[in-house]
Amino acid sequence: MRTQNTVARDYYGILGVARDASDDEIKRAYRKLARQYHPDVNPDPEAAEKFKEINAAYEVLSDDQKRQIVDLGGDPLAPGGGGPGGGPGGAGPFVGFQDIMDAFFGAAGGGARGPRPRTRPGADAILRLELDLLETAFGVEAPITVDTAVLCTTCSGAGTAAGTHLATCETCGGRGEVQSVQRTFLGQVVSSRPCTVCQGYGTVIPHPCPTCAGDGRVRTRRSLTVKIPAGVEDGMRIRLAQQGEVGPGGGTAGDLYVEIHERPHDVYSRKGDDLHCRVTVPMTAAALGTRLTIKTLDSEETVDVKPGTQPNSTLRLRARGVPHLRGAGRGDLYVHLDVRTPTKLTADQERVLREFSRSRGEEVAELTKQGGFFSRMRDAFNGH
Ligand SMILES: [Zn+2]
Ligand SMILES: [Zn+2]
Repeated sequence: MRTQNTVARDYYGILGVARDASDDEIKRAYRKLARQYHPDVNPDPEAAEKFKEINAAYEVLSDDQKRQIVDLGGDPLAPGGGGPGGGPGGAGPFVGFQDIMDAFFGAAGGGARGPRPRTRPGADAILRLELDLLETAFGVEAPITVDTAVLCTTCSGAGTAAGTHLATCETCGGRGEVQSVQRTFLGQVVSSRPCTVCQGYGTVIPHPCPTCAGDGRVRTRRSLTVKIPAGVEDGMRIRLAQQGEVGPGGGTAGDLYVEIHERPHDVYSRKGDDLHCRVTVPMTAAALGTRLTIKTLDSEETVDVKPGTQPNSTLRLRARGVPHLRGAGRGDLYVHLDVRTPTKLTADQERVLREFSRSRGEEVAELTKQGGFFSRMRDAFNGH
C-alpha cells in the first residue's frame, strides 16, 4: 500500500526543464521523452510508468492554470488537491493527443494554422538584358518588355465579380482545414488537413471576377525603360522595386531584377574597368619607333612607340577604360603591341635587310633551295 504523497510532484524535474521554461521548451522536452518511453516503442515495464509520469507532467505544465498551481506549491493532479477552485481536475485520458502524434510524426504547423490569406506577396522576376560595351561603359536608357502578373483592374485584386463578395466556406466553416479521425497504433487520432473545397482559404468566391477568374491578377506584357548607369559589368543585376509579379489576390508585387549581359566586343576585351586591345606594329616600326593613332571607346589618341620596342610590349592609356560605377574616374586602356616580322620580301628588300644584318655583324645563314641551311648546321656540329 502506498501512502498518499503529500509532497507535490516535481513536474519540471520529470520533463527535465527549468522552472522558467517556455511553452516551446516544455513541448520539445515532452516530445523527446515521449518518443523514448512510449510503451509501443519501449517494452520495459518501467518505461510505461515513466511514460505516464511524462504525460502527467506535460498535462500540467502545458496548461497555464495547472502550471500556476504547481508554481504556487500545489499539485493539480493530486486527489482533491490543487489551489482554490480545484481546477478542471484530471478527468478523462491525458490531454495533448495531437502532441503525442506530433512527437512521432512531426508537427505539421506547430500551432496556429487556421485559414491562409488570399492575398499574398508576389514573386521576384528576373530579366536578361544584352548590352554592348559602349552601353555598359557609358550607361543607357534601355527599353525592356516585361511579362509578369499585374493587378486585375476589373476587381482591384479582390477576385470577386462586381457587386459580389467572398463567402465563408461551408465545408470547413471558415477554418481552412478539416479534421478527420484516423486509427493508428495510438488509438483514434484526430488530424487536420487543408480544406480541399476552399484550398485552405476558409472562404470561397461564389461569383469570380470574369477577367481574372478569381486570382486577382492577370498576366500581361508591359514596356518599361530601365536606366542603366555607366560602368555596369556583365552579370550585375539592377533591381526595380515592385516591378515583379503581383501576388495572388493582388498582393504586393515582388521586385524585378534586370541582369546585365555584355556582348563581346570586336576590338576591346574587358577586365573589370580596364580594357585591352591588340595593335600590330611592323618589325621595322618597332625598331625605328613610330606614332600610332589609337581609337579608344570615345576618342582617338596619338601614342608614341619608342624605338627598340620589343614584341609583347604594352602601352597604357590612363583613364581611357570604362568609367567606374562607383566614384569618379575610369579604368585604363592597355594596348598590346604585336610586332610582326615581314613574311614576304622582294629581292630588293632582302638585299637591304642582309646589308643591315651584315652591318651589325650578325651571321645569317643563307637558306638555299637544296636545304643548304641544314647542311651547314650539320657541318658546324661536325666541326667542319
Ligand atoms: Zn473550406
Ligand atoms: Zn479580377
